[in-house]
Amino acid sequence: MLISCNPDDIEGSMKLVEDLTTNANKYQQQVLEEIMTQNAETEYLRGLLGEELNEESFKKKVPIVDYEDVKPYIERIANDGESFKLISAQPISELLTSSGTSGGQPKRMPTTAEDLDRKTFLYNLLVPVMNKHVEGLDQGKSMYLLFIKSETRTPSGLTARPVLTSYYKSRNFINRPFNRFNVYTSPDETILCSDSKQSMYCQLLCGLIQRDEVLRVGAVFASAFLRAINFLEDYWQELCSNIRTGKLSDWITDTSCRNAVMSIHRQPNLELANLIDSECGAKSWEGIVKRLWPRTKFIDVIVTGSMAQYIPTLEFYSGGLPLVSTMYASSECYFGINLNPLSKPSDVSYTLLPTMAYFEFLPVEKNHEEMVQGASVQCNGDTADLNCLKEEEELGGKTVNLVEVKLGQYYELIVTTFTAGLYRYRVGDILMVTGFYNNAPQFRFIQRRNVVLSIDTDKTSEGDLLNAVTEAKLLIEPLGYLLTEYTSYADTSAIPGHYVLFWELKFRGNTDISMLDSSIMENCCHKVEESLDFVYRRLRSRDKSVGPLEIRVVKHGAFDALMDFFVSQGSSVNQYKTPRCIKSEKAIEILNSMVVRSFFCTKDPFWNLRLEAKRSSIRLVAFVVGFS
Ligand code: AMP
Repeated sequence: MLISCNPDDIEGSMKLVEDLTTNANKYQQQVLEEIMTQNAETEYLRGLLGEELNEESFKKKVPIVDYEDVKPYIERIANDGESFKLISAQPISELLTSSGTSGGQPKRMPTTAEDLDRKTFLYNLLVPVMNKHVEGLDQGKSMYLLFIKSETRTPSGLTARPVLTSYYKSRNFINRPFNRFNVYTSPDETILCSDSKQSMYCQLLCGLIQRDEVLRVGAVFASAFLRAINFLEDYWQELCSNIRTGKLSDWITDTSCRNAVMSIHRQPNLELANLIDSECGAKSWEGIVKRLWPRTKFIDVIVTGSMAQYIPTLEFYSGGLPLVSTMYASSECYFGINLNPLSKPSDVSYTLLPTMAYFEFLPVEKNHEEMVQGASVQCNGDTADLNCLKEEEELGGKTVNLVEVKLGQYYELIVTTFTAGLYRYRVGDILMVTGFYNNAPQFRFIQRRNVVLSIDTDKTSEGDLLNAVTEAKLLIEPLGYLLTEYTSYADTSAIPGHYVLFWELKFRGNTDISMLDSSIMENCCHKVEESLDFVYRRLRSRDKSVGPLEIRVVKHGAFDALMDFFVSQGSSVNQYKTPRCIKSEKAIEILNSMVVRSFFCTKDPFWNLRLEAKRSSIRLVAFVVGFS
């Protein structure tokens, strides 16, 4: 089922949205039928379903799987050259490398030519949705900073690359709406330049030259946009000098990139160079985005999920511009869009489009102990009285359909794709239902499953860590420090092992962290520990099987170096998200080499069984009140 959308036609596109959301169930039933019929002869489905191509048999006989289950099939196609018919009725055109890993390697997801058109449909639909909410976007340009990543070939000759690289290199991208009218400041050649430094420099140069026309700026994820700002901090003088002289630095050696830039950068512009010089040379970079691109109406970057922690930094640089998270997607499948793009980051919900795939939802709930320990947690950027999930208990392992999900309930997303060969596949994302648009549910992204730190029997999820760090950073924010990045690892090189957090801090106005007060930082360590769960605190205080938590403050740029490392290992710049827990020895080594100061927790966190129960019941009351 391939639906098309004319991005020029706001009214027609909105009617389409009405139809898709009103008839969500009908579309989902059609999608499942089509997937089963089309793929009935694949080795995978035939072995499970035979002739029983109906929903009941599908749910009874096709197991819910994760990547490790489908990996052998993917490897047979990728490495042994076996036919795509193992899993898909259509030829696998390439493999998409995801930011998730399996055995230290990026996961590889099959895709087909038809899938590309489905993604294009979603991108096209975003255009009228945005135009409906923000007037006059057709009166200027978009500065989208987009990057590709190099690709590899599998032994059977398939190309393996990140999903966005695949899309940017496709005809669908080159022919994207309005591209022929030069409404994007980055020429395609600068996006398609495989040297990410040259690509970044050229895209920023083109964006600065066309600053008066820019109506929106963005990147895919918040982290990529902030990386561009950091790059600008390092290169603005050289960019200014290029603008002043009308020349392009010699180190831009990619010929097509060079030619494309020179077609825009035709002559010296003294006035512009002076203006950028004075803005970038100012003591503080607060509001720099608005100052450099004064007509910008919003920043188009995903700030939900693990990206939420960048919101304060983005707000610092943006000068109060709205942050717009437009879509929710993955290498496996593109899922849905945000129908209220101007909503606050904390209110962002995504409506899954019922023609993108067949969706099922596995209800998940916190176990009792975790319910009792409800604490406020930063889920979508704002601190909400919500319990982010720590460890999910499947409620009977039974899935519900798209239109059957319940308001306020948490679910794990299960997807069955048209042609990518994924049947009842656990994406690994936990979503919460926040409302309905017609009959289509809208979801808040909560977190990815199973990202844990563990020394003993403690299990700390990404959500737990985010919660604890959010609490601790409140101690330093009033002093003018911004926590711009963090990650962690379980240091077990000594006994007992302990949690190590790497923090990159920024002092408003400059990057001087020499004034950091030891006692405040020790309090931060303590606050993190106090905010971690009961098991952790018991192991730390009573059992002493976990040592005092340590915060290592790293110098400015350390997390860029970390990203460079992961990119060199196969991650894509666009899709890169700072891992909140790192295991790679090399990555830890990189951060350790950039540590400027280190602080340990000097007192045990609170732990007492009797008082704990009392404290928990107080929290439970607060939790219930918060929800009512
Ligand atoms: P990848 O396959 O590497 O592109 O990563 C896909 C994953 O990124 C998804 O499964 C989510 O965990 C995360 N992701 C994608 N879009 C969003 C979004 N809008 N908000 C939060 N997380 C997202």
